[in-house]
Amino acid sequence: MLYDTIIIGGGPAGLSAAIHLAWHNRAALVIDRKTGPLFFTLEKLYNVPGMPATKGIQIQKQLKEQAVELGAEVVKDNVTSATGTEGNFSITCESGKVWSAKTLLLATGMARYHPTVDGDYKPCFAYAGKGNMFYCPDCEAPEIKDKDTIVIGTASANGAAGMALGLSRYTDRLRILLTSDSELSDDRREKLTAKNIQTIRGQLQALHGKKGILSELALTDGSVLQAEAFFVSSPVRGRTDLAQQLGVEMAATGNHAQPQSQRGDTNVPGVWIAGDLRPMTQQVSVAMGTGNIAAIMIDQHLRKQDIA
Ligand SMILES: Cc1cc2nc3c(=O)[nH]c(=O)nc-3n(C[C@H](O)[C@H](O)[C@H](O)COP(=O)(O)OP(=O)(O)OC[C@H]3O[C@@H](n4cnc5c(N)ncnc54)[C@H](O)[C@@H]3O)c2cc1C
Repeated sequence: MLYDTIIIGGGPAGLSAAIHLAWHNRAALVIDRKTGPLFFTLEKLYNVPGMPATKGIQIQKQLKEQAVELGAEVVKDNVTSATGTEGNFSITCESGKVWSAKTLLLATGMARYHPTVDGDYKPCFAYAGKGNMFYCPDCEAPEIKDKDTIVIGTASANGAAGMALGLSRYTDRLRILLTSDSELSDDRREKLTAKNIQTIRGQLQALHGKKGILSELALTDGSVLQAEAFFVSSPVRGRTDLAQQLGVEMAATGNHAQPQSQRGDTNVPGVWIAGDLRPMTQQVSVAMGTGNIAAIMIDQHLRKQDIA
């Protein structure tokens, strides 16, 4: 079968696109391996319009149900290769299945690096997005209001300082743990001093807490840092592999695919992008909006072909 559109990625961007395309009676297939943040975020999200105080997994469920109800197909699989040109793209999955489509929408999202704890990032899984270990100021900064908070800087010291300075609108009890050798600029150092934000250097040996709530950081020098909330400052890594396979231009960030316009079209005819894969902030409603606009453009594009 030749689908009108194959959507790779079934987070809020991909599913929102599927909703619009299915509503317009387009044959739309969503392929998703279910590694997006909302599958793992146990905290409630407070800023998604129309879905107040809703858990990530519930948002995924509602969007998927709406897409399927309207006629979209959603399958769980990992796409390993994307080839072809407009009118006949070929998508190969880890399961061995091969799918074909006239157009493609890439909504593969991005990943964030976790801090390493005794050389391993996996101990963070017990706390990341589960209660009081946060990553995204645009999403979660209000959660730390008036709380004693440690920013864990994994890479650039200035990046961690910038995050802490931004968070100082929400709490005046902030410290920074710098786990890399990166140096602070004089300007950032002065600003931190003015805000009474202390910097500590050290390596994480263990994370201590209960039921998703992190309470203390044990450092390799034997010291222990306790706090009520933790914010991680770490680089992002766009899931750009398929976009690159197809020849989609990369954004200057190096971590995202570059749209040609706000509509999400790319330099490759027949390929659109949406959501966190685009060089924007990471937000559910932005992902939904960019998924929706890409889907509208894909439908209009196919309609022009139908008419021609
Ligand atoms: C801890 C945390 C808390 C957050 N809190 C909030 C919040 O409070 N409010 C808010 O608005 N936003 C929040 N966000 C951000 C929000 O989750 C993202 O902006 C949003 O999920 C992006 O949607 P997306 O569809 O672009 O990508 P994603 O949700 O990342 O979905 C992409 C999907 O594509 C799939 N995929 C990727 N590559 C392949 C492949 N090769 N084959 C098959 N499938 C593939 C992935 O498995 C994933 O399921 C938070 C994020 C995190 C990490």
